[in-house]
Amino acid sequence: PVHRKSVIQKARLKLPILAEEQEIMELISQNSVVIIAGETGSGKTTQVPQFLYEAGYAINKMIGVTEPRRVAAISMSQRVAEEMNVSNEIVSYLIRFEGNVTDNTKIKFMTDGVLLREVQNDFLLTKYSVIILDEAHERSVYTDILIGLLSRIVPLRNKRGNPLKLIIMSATLRLEDFTENLRLFKTPPPVLKVEARQFPVTIHFNKHTFDNYLKEAYNKTVKIHTKLPDGGILVFVTGQQEVKTLVQKLRKSFKLRRNVAKTQEHNSDSDEASEIEQDLKRTLKRKKIRKVMTPVNLDDYSIPGDNDVETESELNSEDEIGEIVINTSKPLWVLPLYSLLPSYEQAKVFREPPEGTRLCVVSTNVAETSLTIPNIKYVVDSGKTKVKLYDKVTGVTSYMVTWTSKASANQRAGRAGRVAPGHCYRLYSSAVFNDTFQEFSVPEIQQKPVDDLYLQMKCMNVDKVHNFPFPTAPDLMQLKTAESRLEVLGALKNSKVTSLGRAISKFPVLPRYGKMLALSHQQNLLPYTICIVAALSVQEVLLETPITQSPEEAKNLRQKWGAMRRQWAGVGNSLLLGDPMVLLRAVGAAEYANTDGKLETFCLENGLRHKAIIEIRKLRVQLTNEIKMNVPDSDIIVDPKLAPPSDLQSKLLRQIILAGMGDQVAKKIKQEELKESEDKIKLKYAYRANNLEEPVFLHQGSVLKKTLPEFVVYQEIYETNKMYMRGVTAIEPE
Ligand code: ADP
Ligand code: MG
Repeated sequence: PVHRKSVIQKARLKLPILAEEQEIMELISQNSVVIIAGETGSGKTTQVPQFLYEAGYAINKMIGVTEPRRVAAISMSQRVAEEMNVSNEIVSYLIRFEGNVTDNTKIKFMTDGVLLREVQNDFLLTKYSVIILDEAHERSVYTDILIGLLSRIVPLRNKRGNPLKLIIMSATLRLEDFTENLRLFKTPPPVLKVEARQFPVTIHFNKHTFDNYLKEAYNKTVKIHTKLPDGGILVFVTGQQEVKTLVQKLRKSFKLRRNVAKTQEHNSDSDEASEIEQDLKRTLKRKKIRKVMTPVNLDDYSIPGDNDVETESELNSEDEIGEIVINTSKPLWVLPLYSLLPSYEQAKVFREPPEGTRLCVVSTNVAETSLTIPNIKYVVDSGKTKVKLYDKVTGVTSYMVTWTSKASANQRAGRAGRVAPGHCYRLYSSAVFNDTFQEFSVPEIQQKPVDDLYLQMKCMNVDKVHNFPFPTAPDLMQLKTAESRLEVLGALKNSKVTSLGRAISKFPVLPRYGKMLALSHQQNLLPYTICIVAALSVQEVLLETPITQSPEEAKNLRQKWGAMRRQWAGVGNSLLLGDPMVLLRAVGAAEYANTDGKLETFCLENGLRHKAIIEIRKLRVQLTNEIKMNVPDSDIIVDPKLAPPSDLQSKLLRQIILAGMGDQVAKKIKQEELKESEDKIKLKYAYRANNLEEPVFLHQGSVLKKTLPEFVVYQEIYETNKMYMRGVTAIEPE
């Protein structure tokens, strides 16, 4: 039995899904596979696991719930534990590097990648009585594969008289991919639609579509805050950097703080937020907040000066967001939200804003479906999303900001109608929406390299990967490229997994890194390779732009960071190892600082992302344990005081990196090779990569710019204004 607190029970009763409990449970008991579709916020993620728990599904086995996003796995496990009034030993989470799962865990939230790994070790998932695949509409690669695998596992478990239930949960879109795919489910699973109480949301399109959507978003938010009645504002932009910029700008405009510049040493979000909090208290004590807003008729309202010409000329003249003079005394409680934000910061969006303030959350598309922020009445939608594009032929990746799909724009708008009628301000015209937006976003599996999952599937004895029941199949070209790259690595031979391939697949990193680990064992270089692989596998370890108030300060910091990185690079073979060496030394130095309890300061001062360093540490532990399990007599440890590699070791490390990335070589373009038309100065750092027509460049901060080696291998090519190589190591001269 569950003993919920009465406040929680009251809140639950308001959720539309609660009325459907009986029907849902009957459907589940009568069918092996059930699809539950419902609007975001209807209570799927928080309630369905509790229904199952109360119906006895967790008595002998666990209830497993997968989330495509780590953020959601953590915060949903916490929320469900809180609602059930139990500890996180009972309702727990497991993500790639961390978790709080115990032997007593009954409901386990995890990322879809974690469950896929478990399938490899226990194909029938015998620990579970039911698997919920949440957010299936997001179409993440791992969730897609899990659907395919579970469509086979469920009948197998039934045959053995030990049934497993599969519940697919999704927003109400594109369900046909699951129901009308006969290869996946011969008899289409029943779909239960949760009718959510969705209040009408009035959509306001801009008359014109401007390039500078960040500035538009700022202006719109300011106008809503100064002119419209109470209610939270949710702003969608594309990435972490944009979120930070906009948050800073909004906080600055609605000055809540005095003497910020003086008291503020580090400009991290947490400092800023707590400072605002304190400042607010002071302000609120001193004077009662005056109401300055006149009520506006919401049904007949358009923001004055919405699309006037003045805005247009302003927009063309500068890149920065302009400032508007504000005459309201009502404070705006501005919070950022993106997936790399620390979880205690993320949790703030669920709390009531301080009294007398209006909540404004600036978010990436994390807030689209996975997290429901309470009391949002206004949505400001840039209409943009940042996607990682991957060229199937050349392998070039690029981050591109593009229009999102109609489906996700509608999800975003829906966020405004959870508590009362709401408004969505789209910063683009209806013509753009109708003519340019695609209906749906492309499933992730069709836009990234599939090497790792190809190998994993081979290891699970899926012989003909092209026949696998994918909800949406990757195209043949992607599969062929993956197969041939795996053959080159030696992970496959004649389409069969080699013993090297099996060793590689054990590591939770890309196959090419797995190979580097497998090779290092022979050379006694493991602690270094582990550290390099861990660092290369984590995003954004070295920061590029300092976040400070003054440009002066930013410039100084950048110079300081650059000098530090050149120092880390060292000389000789160390320098030739390039970016991996800088990462290795950066991690080493950070861990060293950590032994004195100075990690955070060290990261701030040297331009390292604190959370990345922690992730790298966890991955190092995980990789080390994995190796120890397979090689019992190895005595490797994760040493926080790992000495830098010797010159000889650096040379061997370069060879190992070459073995892993040998298919990604680039050759320096010689000045005499240049055509007349090509600008010699601009091409100083240019290389010719394998199969690319256009030149590729050493990235801005590359330590190899001084030596300009003739041949290099790279981790990845990405495209911004030009094509740049990331993770570069020299392979010449020998
Ligand atoms: P769905 O999965 O259908 O989108 P959820 O189960 O995630 O819906 O959310 C149901 C309700 O629970 C929402 O109103 C949401 O605001 C609330 N909720 C979810 N997480 C928290 C939390 N950490 N704190 C407070 N409320 C939350
Ligand atoms: Mg959900």
